[in-house]
Amino acid sequence: MVEPRLLVSPGTSSMLPWFGLLLGLLAIPFAFFLGLKALIRARLGGYKHEFVRPDPSAPLTKEALRSVAVLGGGVAGLTAALTLARRGYPVTLYEKKAFLGGKLGSQREPVLAGQETWVSHGFHAFFPHYHSFRRLLDSVRICELESIDDYVICEKSGAMTRFRGVEPTPVLNLFGLLRRGLFSLKDAVSAPGRDLYGVFLEYEADATFRRYDSVSYAEFARRGRVPPRLKLAFNTFARAFFADEEKLSLAQLIKAFHFYYLSQDGGLLYEYPIRDYEAGLMRPIAEELESLGAEVRTLDPVREFSRTLEGFQVNGRPYGAVVVALDAPALGPLFLDAPGLPEETRRRIGSVRAGQRYVVWRIWIDKDIRESVPVFVITERERALDAVTAFHRFEVETKEDLKSGRADPKTRAVLELHCYAVPDDLVDAEIKPTLFGELLRRFPELEGASVLHEWYVVEQNFSAFHVGLEADRPTVETGVPGLYCAADWVKLPFPAMLLEAAAASGYLAANGILAEDGLRLEPIVTVPLKGLMAGMPAPKTRVELLGA
Ligand SMILES: Cc1cc2nc3c(=O)[nH]c(=O)nc-3n(C[C@H](O)[C@H](O)[C@H](O)COP(=O)(O)OP(=O)(O)OC[C@H]3O[C@@H](n4cnc5c(N)ncnc54)[C@H](O)[C@@H]3O)c2cc1C
Repeated sequence: MVEPRLLVSPGTSSMLPWFGLLLGLLAIPFAFFLGLKALIRARLGGYKHEFVRPDPSAPLTKEALRSVAVLGGGVAGLTAALTLARRGYPVTLYEKKAFLGGKLGSQREPVLAGQETWVSHGFHAFFPHYHSFRRLLDSVRICELESIDDYVICEKSGAMTRFRGVEPTPVLNLFGLLRRGLFSLKDAVSAPGRDLYGVFLEYEADATFRRYDSVSYAEFARRGRVPPRLKLAFNTFARAFFADEEKLSLAQLIKAFHFYYLSQDGGLLYEYPIRDYEAGLMRPIAEELESLGAEVRTLDPVREFSRTLEGFQVNGRPYGAVVVALDAPALGPLFLDAPGLPEETRRRIGSVRAGQRYVVWRIWIDKDIRESVPVFVITERERALDAVTAFHRFEVETKEDLKSGRADPKTRAVLELHCYAVPDDLVDAEIKPTLFGELLRRFPELEGASVLHEWYVVEQNFSAFHVGLEADRPTVETGVPGLYCAADWVKLPFPAMLLEAAAASGYLAANGILAEDGLRLEPIVTVPLKGLMAGMPAPKTRVELLGA
């Protein structure tokens, strides 16, 4: 047997201390980096905040539970309905459309020259920190999800800003923006940026909305002379509110930046379903609801709602509790004059209003977009185009249409164009030409393409997150026992948006009813409630600049 020390030659052994020193020196920045990550995590209190931790000794269910009406079959309504039906409540779900899912629903339409295919309200990204939404999905057998390769912004110049590889730790990920040239150190350390950008690290619901809900994002950008490249980053988060910069509240933008970028370490690489939403998500949910004895009443819009001495009445039928999970346009007509409700409750729910129009336009065309573009890409907006999805690259049903010949055989691509907030002065007739023109400028390889089939929707049913609306926004609790709100327009006691707000509010509404009945609550996990630098006093210069 060879003695180990004989394996090291005398020359090598004299170099060992130097080698060790070198390793030690290299380890210092690495240890510093790990230390910094741990510090950020500790300061935020971890990335998963246990907002509701159920008492395991509380009963899950009991005899003779009251009946519950859930109004609206979007993600919020479905979350509440499924949760309560699983606990044994007799649930009736009212949905005005023929299908479930609301904005995450899909339907069959005869768009392929008379042949039907699945179309939807558009591509949706499921982010890793959507804890409640993920919990809902994990509780039913949904279709396979695929991970996006890269989060990409396609700029007006045609350049692609890619977020793959950005360190996901909050705050350290700001260096990712720096490296991609979205801002410079000079922007951050010199006025006015130095005085303003701190707001994004200081999110704390009460203070943020008290100070900044009266300021628009556009006003902030003007007064702060936000450089165009940095606006590109902010705009990505601003789009989530379906509002123009002039209308969008700065406080909402700060919340979005906190929620998506500065409070979670999952990064921006999200997942998406590879089936249409009906087959992939909604059918399993509807099947479970029905197997639990819930009554799913599609094509039965809520026309009448009132509070009675015994509980509530919906479309002439009595219920012991109600979850309001409708979209914004439905609320005013049903609630402003709802009999039996306190004036304040009627006013709050009934005053939720819709934001701007948005457009989803799916086109079957005879040219394909270049291979290097991910299936979903955000586009820097000129006038209307916000995002492009290449459905022929991933969706099972779309691929099947092409293979089976249901779609025109000349089809090379099935693209979905989104405009999340149609400018008020863009008339209907101009929307499609504007979107198509912008598509061709971004992707010149599509020049000369013809549209073979199309599916086009202009809707105005996303709620407004405009300046000054937060103070009056309804919360999940309405002040009336047995009556709860659940939707992405509800003011939540933690930061959440869109699908996550819908699912989380659904669990909260169900918890309201469970709590009244002395039953065990559903657990709710959220991102950290506050930003890394929450609680810092606003610098005087910022107060002067923003008047807030
Ligand atoms: C184009 C587009 C892209 C999006 N992309 C994303 C994304 O990538 N990631 C993300 O997180 N979110 C995204 N969203 C947002 C997301 O879809 C919504 O936040 C979420 O689906 C809202 O769910 P909800 O249950 O609150 O409301 P809704 O889905 O609006 O549900 C409300 C339900 O009430 C029903 N209803 C209305 N009136 C009545 C009535 N009188 N009686 C009975 N029922 C009625 C409606 O038909 C609907 O089913 C996107 C939205 C759109 C439009």
